[in-house]
Amino acid sequence: MFSFSQASAGRFAPSPTGPLHLGSLIAALGSYLLARQAGLRWLLRIDDLDRPRVVEGAAAEIMQLLETLGFEWDAEPIWQSCRDERYAEVLQHLREQGLVYPCSCSRKEILASAPHAGEEGPVYPGSCRNGPVGNRQQLAWRLRTHARPISFRDRFYAEQKQNLQSEIGDFVLFRADGFFAYQLATVVDDIDSGITQIVRGADLLGSTARQIYLYNCLGQPLPEYQHLPLLMGDDGEKISKRQGEVGVVHAGNGGEMMRLALQFLGQSPPAELLDAPASQQLLWALKHFDPGQIRPQNRLLSGLSDKR
Ligand code: GLU
Repeated sequence: MFSFSQASAGRFAPSPTGPLHLGSLIAALGSYLLARQAGLRWLLRIDDLDRPRVVEGAAAEIMQLLETLGFEWDAEPIWQSCRDERYAEVLQHLREQGLVYPCSCSRKEILASAPHAGEEGPVYPGSCRNGPVGNRQQLAWRLRTHARPISFRDRFYAEQKQNLQSEIGDFVLFRADGFFAYQLATVVDDIDSGITQIVRGADLLGSTARQIYLYNCLGQPLPEYQHLPLLMGDDGEKISKRQGEVGVVHAGNGGEMMRLALQFLGQSPPAELLDAPASQQLLWALKHFDPGQIRPQNRLLSGLSDKR
């Protein structure tokens, strides 16, 4: 099912649902510096799985911008929208193992029957485990979970633990609207690309136990997890979800955004670099990066943009 992949690597996996925001630049920068510091390759993946949310042209713009800012990736980017066959193959494999089952519950039915809401939404109570009982025509496919807690150690957020059965429930790998789910696609892509270091925003900490469980079901070795603190807008929302221009990175403000991203990760470039182009600041950071300065605390945009 999985062949041994080449060298180990880190990655950045933007979703092209809009322009690059400072929050995503922080994830790109953190993953780049941590990969390079560990002597790893660094890959780019375009997470354009969720077709209805993809904005045309956004992926090309993000890639162009990353290049202008000085990032260098080590292989042709993977596009999730081109990988349906591969995801289908892995889903079929899980099906043969009896690990997935079709579910016909609508959201409304799940809400009505969920024992309680978990942090990630209503917990699926397993209604269709022994055969579809819901009223929806289109089927989703869910992975059977178990009640043994899944623990892992995150480099910045330390010990984490989640009981999938009571906190999430059997989760969707193939959506009723015909698209593969993020959890399946990301794990399959990370395995196939030889990703050994996963660096991303702490908003995905809550997905990690599900992904670890999938690695286990597929018999694959786990990557290391390193979640970065989140940049929040002044309203406490994740910055990339905010509307408007605040925090949007473009070629014209690249230097300033790189400075803010470095500052957010606790790095302090020398004064003469403060107004330098992004690519020069990035070169400095490759030499002087100190991950010990990354603190697992979310921060507000306004706390960053105050003048030096
Ligand atoms: N595409 C996801 C995002 O932009 C990141 C996926 C991941 O790093 O696992 O939030």
